[in-house]
Amino acid sequence: MALSEWLARLHLIKLEQLSKITGCTIAAKAEFANGGGSVKDRAALFLIKDAIKKGQLKPGGTVVEGTAGNTGIGLAHICNAMGFKCVIYMPNTQSKEKIDMLRTLGADVRPVPAVPFTDPNNYNHQASRFAESTENAVWMNQFDNTANRQAHIETTGPEIWQQTNGKVDAVTFGTGTGGTLAGVSTYLKEKNPKIQAFLADPEGSVLYNYIKHGKLERRGDGSITEGIGQGRVTENLKGAPIDDALPITDKEAVEWTFRLLHEEGFFVGASSGLNVAAALRVAKLMGPGHTIVTCLCDTGQRYYAKLFSRKFLQQKGLLESVPEPYRLALHDD
Ligand code: PMP
Repeated sequence: MALSEWLARLHLIKLEQLSKITGCTIAAKAEFANGGGSVKDRAALFLIKDAIKKGQLKPGGTVVEGTAGNTGIGLAHICNAMGFKCVIYMPNTQSKEKIDMLRTLGADVRPVPAVPFTDPNNYNHQASRFAESTENAVWMNQFDNTANRQAHIETTGPEIWQQTNGKVDAVTFGTGTGGTLAGVSTYLKEKNPKIQAFLADPEGSVLYNYIKHGKLERRGDGSITEGIGQGRVTENLKGAPIDDALPITDKEAVEWTFRLLHEEGFFVGASSGLNVAAALRVAKLMGPGHTIVTCLCDTGQRYYAKLFSRKFLQQKGLLESVPEPYRLALHDD
């Protein structure tokens, strides 16, 4: 199997109930079905290939990355397949499931306090310094290495174009590095400049205000979603053709995460719920008859302890956002 086949290129899923409600075709790339279980497998593969091509990563070398977890999980799988070591720095606010999985994959995981990018102890800077001080080690730099965006220009974008027979009207994605949105919008707008690209932004991120008003101002306090939301404009996002931004609350993200589970049959994380909430907004803006594509980024299993816990949701004031009949299925740990 070529490593490129590790990406689940075939899966674009029509969300039946959501399409019925809106009169649009709402479809999602099933990224949870990739080899490492998330949308970040694409970036991971291209980042490693880029480092090999540039002669930075040699046999037996060490891949180092700062990550909310999913990029690390993708990298760790590929490192195992290609004989590299893997060292992962991640904020200690991220889910235990992702840390456990990285350890199971054999990665050297280093959870560090979550501090802003401007702090020298931010997980990305720690990863960069460790790689610099280690022989035959490379920092992947997913936020600012545009090999990440290139993955989506070469794979996700063309797949969406082919799988919709070029009939896509809009795409919407929450952004962490911005690689997915920037890569997909860059590719699709070359095919048809009329295709609209929307940035779906969680609470606590600056990107909504950046797109709307050109200001890097935070909106809201923070979000329970993991892997999305941003405090700066990364190199991957810079210059991306984006038409508009949509502010999505945690309440909406949680409601749609549970509706995806109980009404569509997809057990996914909250960034997928947020994406789908945004697709619903776009469908309402555009009106019936349009095709809107978004992304189911990873599996709900990665967030089981928190997102599917009654206690956690109650603490965060989000229990009421789970539609009442679905609250019965929450766990009480
Ligand atoms: N959803 C999840 C669960 C993620 O982990 C990430 C990336 N950290 C994203 C969405 C956003 O992807 P990107 O980095 O391409 O913007």
